[in-house]
Amino acid sequence: MSAPGEPDLYEVLGISKGASKSEIKKAYHKAALSSHPDKVPEDQREEADAKFKSVSQAYEILNDDDTRDMYDQHGMAAFEKGGAGGGQGPDLDDILAQMFGGGMGGMPGMGGMPGMGGHSHGPGQRKGGKGRSELQQYEVTLEELYKGKTTRFASTKKVVCEHCKGSGGKEKAKAKPCDTCKGRGQTTQLRPVGPGLVTQETVACSTCSGRGSFYADKDKCKKCKGVRTVSAKKILELYIPRGSREGEKIVLAGEADQDPDDDSPGDIVFELVEETHKVFHRAGADLQAQLEISLAEALTGFHRVVLTHLDGRGISLNVQQPEGQVLRPDEILKIPGEGMPLKRSDAKGDLYLTVNVKFPEDGWLKDQAAVDKVRAVLPKTEPITYGPGETPELVDEVDFITVDSMEEFGADSDDPRAGGEWEDDEDEGAGGAQCQQQ
Ligand SMILES: [Zn+2]
Ligand SMILES: [Zn+2]
Repeated sequence: MSAPGEPDLYEVLGISKGASKSEIKKAYHKAALSSHPDKVPEDQREEADAKFKSVSQAYEILNDDDTRDMYDQHGMAAFEKGGAGGGQGPDLDDILAQMFGGGMGGMPGMGGMPGMGGHSHGPGQRKGGKGRSELQQYEVTLEELYKGKTTRFASTKKVVCEHCKGSGGKEKAKAKPCDTCKGRGQTTQLRPVGPGLVTQETVACSTCSGRGSFYADKDKCKKCKGVRTVSAKKILELYIPRGSREGEKIVLAGEADQDPDDDSPGDIVFELVEETHKVFHRAGADLQAQLEISLAEALTGFHRVVLTHLDGRGISLNVQQPEGQVLRPDEILKIPGEGMPLKRSDAKGDLYLTVNVKFPEDGWLKDQAAVDKVRAVLPKTEPITYGPGETPELVDEVDFITVDSMEEFGADSDDPRAGGEWEDDEDEGAGGAQCQQQ
């Protein structure tokens, strides 16, 4: 969602609305490199500078799930105080207050975002509007996300006292203005912030709880004792659609604590956290698992259940010999339609099985006869043929040990090729980020 005349962040990066995190990152690297002010001729610098800034901003917003959600819902208005232009956009503080329970000064890790300063409403200042929402994390298993889940739980929340309609006083009683704060609802206080340093801050008046007035004990509502709200238990139902993903939010509208000062109560928002699964890895709607087979199975085929799917079904493979497929270590078998279900659809993603061949133990051939027997059935080993002049003149017979990894390769050498891997994309990423901070 973007207002007319406002750049669409997805267009700025040249990606689709459904782009994954890695697509966003790639697109940002590409765009940042091509528009980096240091990389263009002098006369194009101003234009490149503006483009570089908008690309960086688009990345900063879309790369974070929370800010991306806010952008998808509210457009750039979510990040501009008072909504430059129409002035009708929702205020960022309100959005943050809804999401995280109000009064928080900015968000960690979001430095440099326009309009995201540390301003916060003082206590007791918030009047009207929608109440604070509660954000809670909710852990779900991959099985639950595969099948979908409905769960009921008891929630205790504050509801506006019905007896006094939230006034806190008896029917005909009048609240008296608070002397402590002179009816302002807040007082100023000095707070030490370091050796010899104090800062003045505004806090809700403790005498009247920020209301500016209060009822004398004899005038307080009998039911809520002047608190204006009472605790109530309610059974809530949380429905997680099948195919839901990590980080998705499920909103129980209006189920947060009630406050007589709010026009409407906030929401309870559950953010899904996907538990790590011991068999399956998930990326989007696709699943990946290991296919463990023996060397004999790799060479001669098999017909059996190879794993249990998330809904409890056995998944069977039939690899027939003779003249059938040989399965090699790290080969990947793609099984269309056996991945995660897609939301609101009968379609499913795909399942990728990585072949893991269990080789026999050292010393499994007990005698020369066994060695000869295996050699006789396996394909013949072709001797190396050398071209003219390529035959080595000197041959050394060497010893070896086996190691677990290439970790020691080039260790302590400062050589970027140490560890046996050329660093790729990720390394570029770090460079790009440094670059952007200059
Ligand atoms: Zn007061
Ligand atoms: Zn009451």
